[in-house]
Amino acid sequence: MTVLECRGLDAGYSRGKACVHGLDLSVDAGEIVALLGPNGAGKTTLLTTLAGLLPSLGGEVSVGGQAVRAGDARAAVRAGLVLVPDDRSLFKQLTTRQNLQLAIRRRGAARTEAVDRVLDHFPSLRARLKVAAGELSGGEQQMLAIGRALLQQPKVLLIDELSMGLAPIVVESILPVLREVADNDRTAVVLVEQHVRLALDTADRAVVLVHGEIELTDSAATLAGDIGRVEEAYLGSA
Ligand code: ATP
Repeated sequence: MTVLECRGLDAGYSRGKACVHGLDLSVDAGEIVALLGPNGAGKTTLLTTLAGLLPSLGGEVSVGGQAVRAGDARAAVRAGLVLVPDDRSLFKQLTTRQNLQLAIRRRGAARTEAVDRVLDHFPSLRARLKVAAGELSGGEQQMLAIGRALLQQPKVLLIDELSMGLAPIVVESILPVLREVADNDRTAVVLVEQHVRLALDTADRAVVLVHGEIELTDSAATLAGDIGRVEEAYLGSA
């Protein structure tokens, strides 16, 4: 069942200068889509626009069949579009626990339960609850950022540059959580990831964006078996 639908989406930083052009993209509930492509292809621009942090320059976005107002970050979160930005956007002076608690509106038992569920996904954060977010390792900060996003009950989780600054072994410990969330909660995930191999091992489908247009899309398993096609798509941009 389609949860995220983009039709003819134009995105960019000023009118008449779109860097994502007429993008059509559908993502199913429970599906992980790896969004790949060279630097400057428009991946961050696309995620930021979906999260309502940039006004769109044209086209439509809907979640669960309901149109989402463009350029309205609150409307995007209400619709279930939740972004984990590449800078992770944590409250660095606040503790891990406070960062988690601030991510949810609910109070009392419901809040404790929701935080507990996140900590079940990322058990290593349990020992770090009283530590300021700024003191956490890069991997722990990324777990916390994803944890905060999960507490907002996303229908579509948008993750930018998951592995930025992280050792592959750390990334490999985080990626299975995305699979669990997709499989168990039917959350859709759009994952921007520089490590093509890791991305293809996790995702159901990959989309290669080049110069703001979809150059290639196929099942991740098919592309993992023919990585040359992905490389060619990247090079198509040269
Ligand atoms: P990267 O991996 O380098 O982040 P990307 O695929 O995420 O690449 P974007 O960051 O979305 O690409 O950039 C798409 C285009 O928009 C590029 O030409 C870039 O120079 C431009 N751009 C990015 N940020 C801004 C900004 N704040 N103002 C104006 N142009 C921008």
